[in-house]
Amino acid sequence: MRLPDKSNAEDLQIATAESDNSKVASPNPETEILDPQSKIQNPKSKILRAEGLTRTYNSGPSSVTVFEGLSLELTEGEMVAIVGPSGAGKSTLLHLLGGLDRPTSGSIKLGEFDIFKLADVDLARFRNREIGFIFQFHHLLPEFTALENAMMPLLIGRWSMRSAGERAVSVLTRVGLSARSTHRPGELSGGEQARVALARALVAGPRLLLADEPTGDLDSRTSESIHNLLKEVHASQKLTSVIVTHNERLAAICDRVLHLEDGRLR
Ligand code: ADP
Repeated sequence: MRLPDKSNAEDLQIATAESDNSKVASPNPETEILDPQSKIQNPKSKILRAEGLTRTYNSGPSSVTVFEGLSLELTEGEMVAIVGPSGAGKSTLLHLLGGLDRPTSGSIKLGEFDIFKLADVDLARFRNREIGFIFQFHHLLPEFTALENAMMPLLIGRWSMRSAGERAVSVLTRVGLSARSTHRPGELSGGEQARVALARALVAGPRLLLADEPTGDLDSRTSESIHNLLKEVHASQKLTSVIVTHNERLAAICDRVLHLEDGRLR
């Protein structure tokens, strides 16, 4: 594996793993890193196909069906915004796309993987390597530094401490936060926390970046700088990105805007 050069932000080679079932179950993630150039084989190919997604929440005797029979396709390399009123099911859909939640019915194919056919442990491993998730309000671990937060997916993915640290330093440099890497989230501004959350999402070299209101809590000037950074890393890391947002300026810089309302995606 080629490790990134700490001294050179441009040298960051966020990489990905091959998509076949044997890779999901691999015990040695560090030996399977590919160059990011290999991520996009065919820019017009569909990287994700969601079909017939239904999510019903059952609580006691009552149940809420957030949406029923939703379908969605993502072309490799596109940046898509999902907008819609509060409560429409945007976060629910994003969690399903990221394999963080399972649908009541329906399927999602990411590359060659029918992700909900994977056992929980394989799905977790797959998610760790192929999907970067930016949570609403960042969800950083408060007792850990920026560097430790950024390293976390790699440590979960069983990288060595040294390699994980080197990779995380490079990603933090890439998002403009190297000078704050020893600070805990409580010592960082909202914009800096957003950068750490982005670094954590990118650190394992995902193919798919999913973001839930990444700038929902930021002022307009800080939001603008995070939007630009998102657009920049989306292109440079050859990502396919889905961003839930209420921010019209963020939606406007995406390639496509999907509206989720009344259980329908259009
Ligand atoms: P959005 O992100 O568009 O604001 P959500 O996906 O968060 O919407 O929620 C969609 C609907 O699903 C809401 O009515 C919400 O109350 C409901 N919901 C979300 N999570 C749960 C849950 N764990 N249990 C029950 N209902 C939920």
